[in-house]
Amino acid sequence: MAGYLLATNRLTKQFGRHKAVNDVSLHVKKGAIYGFIGRNGAGKTTFLKMISGLSTPTSGEIELFGYKNQELKNVRSRISCLIEAPGLYGSMSAYDNLAIKSRLFGLNDREYIERILDVVGLADVGKKKAKHFSLGMRQRLGIGLALVGEPDLLVLDEPINGLDPQGIAEIRDMIVRLREEQNMTIIISSHILEELSKIATHYGIIHEGSLLQELTR
Ligand code: ATP
Repeated sequence: MAGYLLATNRLTKQFGRHKAVNDVSLHVKKGAIYGFIGRNGAGKTTFLKMISGLSTPTSGEIELFGYKNQELKNVRSRISCLIEAPGLYGSMSAYDNLAIKSRLFGLNDREYIERILDVVGLADVGKKKAKHFSLGMRQRLGIGLALVGEPDLLVLDEPINGLDPQGIAEIRDMIVRLREEQNMTIIISSHILEELSKIATHYGIIHEGSLLQELTR
């Protein structure tokens, strides 16, 4: 599995008798925007939770930055994820939501937070309370929170789900910039191939828990 930033080997997650993820061997190169495509219920979230350390595999292996098994815990901090809805404090501003997380990383300077607001296109509304944000703005703030601490791998689960075309375009532009300017590797899931086709450099197609195909653009 050498040469990949993330590789899984026959990764499986079983709930009762149902294999939500079944023998998935997937490969992500450094600098890729990896489009992870599958219908609702195909197993995307379950897979992404396992690689993010939020769920334990039933069997199979995960190799991240060259580490596996017990050593994975040494590199988990280099991954950041936005899975399902972002956990925001609604009564706090976008700035303060970012400040809380930044403090945990010992990164509490104003410039740092303002730079993240800028990256996610929320510089003008940094003082606005998160509960007044649109869905797209909430998603972008969620991505901003995931960016705190400069992860090497960013995992985004359906970040464009439910957004209008402009919201989708904004997230897409942001992802391309993150890759170009910060050399980040990004895995982004969607149930609509078309929505990722403009930005993804690689694809993995998952269906009923199995990886059908991996493609390079
Ligand atoms: P969606 O986009 O709808 O979230 P998905 O591709 O992310 O779809 P998963 O959420 O990973 O799919 O779900 C895959 C399968 O695993 C589904 O059949 C789901 O019902 C099942 N599943 C997921 N989590 C659990 C759980 N905690 N317990 C039991 N079954 C689960």
